[in-house]
Amino acid sequence: MTNWIESADSLVLPAKHLIDGGWVDAFGEEIFSVVAPRDGSVLGQIALGNERDVDRAVATARAAFEDRRWSGLRPAQRGAVLRRWAELIQENAADLALTISLEMGKPVREALGVELRAVANCIRWYGEIADKRPDESPAAGDDVVALITREPAGVVAAVVPWNFPLTMTAWKLGPSLVAGNSVVLKPAEQTPYSALKLAELALQAGLPDGVLNVVPGRGHIVGKALGLHHDVDIVTFTGSPEVGRAFLRYSGESNGKRVWPELGGKSASIILPDADLEKAARMTAWGSFYNQGEMCSASSRMVVHRDVVDEVLEHARAQAREMAPADPLDQDAPLGSLVSEAHLERVLGHVRNAVADGAEIVEGSTERAVVDAHPGGSYIAPTILTGVTPGMRIEQQEVFGPVLSVITVDSEEEAIRVANGTEYGLAASVWTRDLGAAHRVSRAVKAGIVWVNCFEEGDMSVPFGGVKGSGFGRDKSAHAIDKFTDLKTTWIEL
Ligand code: NAP
Ligand code: MG
Repeated sequence: MTNWIESADSLVLPAKHLIDGGWVDAFGEEIFSVVAPRDGSVLGQIALGNERDVDRAVATARAAFEDRRWSGLRPAQRGAVLRRWAELIQENAADLALTISLEMGKPVREALGVELRAVANCIRWYGEIADKRPDESPAAGDDVVALITREPAGVVAAVVPWNFPLTMTAWKLGPSLVAGNSVVLKPAEQTPYSALKLAELALQAGLPDGVLNVVPGRGHIVGKALGLHHDVDIVTFTGSPEVGRAFLRYSGESNGKRVWPELGGKSASIILPDADLEKAARMTAWGSFYNQGEMCSASSRMVVHRDVVDEVLEHARAQAREMAPADPLDQDAPLGSLVSEAHLERVLGHVRNAVADGAEIVEGSTERAVVDAHPGGSYIAPTILTGVTPGMRIEQQEVFGPVLSVITVDSEEEAIRVANGTEYGLAASVWTRDLGAAHRVSRAVKAGIVWVNCFEEGDMSVPFGGVKGSGFGRDKSAHAIDKFTDLKTTWIEL
């Protein structure tokens, strides 16, 4: 078994930006220290990009697109490159997982077993579907040939968060690249290294120079410059609702580029009295704590029928106690550290507001958790709040930490009202053995994803994304490829 702490000492971290197939110095002069939240130590330093870096990356991507070095390949050839990339990701999975774990604090075991597996699967899946998507030719008449073809849009900017840094990146790069586009990727400030390493593997796999460029930098500088750029055709974004709306504004203020926003959530888990209560309670608690609760789809609101709330709560509390945070490099850590001190303060602030608003803490605390070996780490224990009522701040706002709110209801109708009572609409789950109730609730809940008697299930064949304030982009599945293509009609009179 890997000794992760020893491996961390010898980990090699890229120091430059990846542009036009090689490592280059940034124009930007701000040097950023990447901090490992497991202990607060500085992991490394990297120069942040500025507007000139964005201009260079976009020009490079444009040149690569226009000379058709990638878009001009046959789909099967592009697919082969993606499949080779997936193999390299698997071969380098331990290094990538360790890099993620150090950058953002998730347990290295989860980074390897869950995230890196998902990343390789995603890239392989798009590699496999590359040449299996026929265009259309409707039977328009005996004297015409009508063609509906999909063309790559051009230059795609991908701006991603830190919580599943490589999964989110793969969800953007797989479909945009397989369609033939060129890409400029801006990783989150906290997670530049894993993104650069992933992109380096794409080059090794045979992706032509200039097709994928990475510009680490601050959101309000690099992200904004991409959003406002007149030569970017599409922005694909995962992150907060505020920044998602900023991208829609940038588009309106520049060239009207397409923006695909994948935003936050406040997902409800509706537990009806006839459900398998232990499974429902444990999965809901797990779903709100997993990945330190830094999960857009986290089941952060447990909406429980009054008849069964006591029993459900007991199981949820047991789950919380089994998920105490530990050093993410500890092979058995169920939870790691939050991404940063600043984020820890935000999450604790949400818990304190909840208490001020009348909620009661039954597991967890308003204070940080201390993991013995690392007093400088940003840890928090899984926290369960009862007495939460619709409209409270904790019930409405995305926490993005391991905090579960329990809301008691008296009927299926009330549960649906509560579930739909936030600005968000990413995901929901419903727990019942009644087939009719399962269908009624699934239809009535306004969310992009509904899980029945399960949580967070799915695979590459199904889309992931939300409605309402959670945005309208869809990642994964063949549908995601369409986001990065233009439909062309060709009408030929014979
Ligand atoms: P964030 O603050 O919105 O940042 C996301 C990305 O946008 C980062 O690369 C960030 O750069 C950049 N950015 C920040 N301000 C910007 C600006 N003014 N203009 C352009 N770009 C800007 O989100 P986060 O805190 O990293 O991630 C958490 C959020 O992502 C949560 O709301 C979560 O629910 C959501 N999320 C959604 C999904 C989904 O599939 N729907 C999946 C995962 C996460 P910096 O890092 O430099 O700030
Ligand atoms: Mg941020």
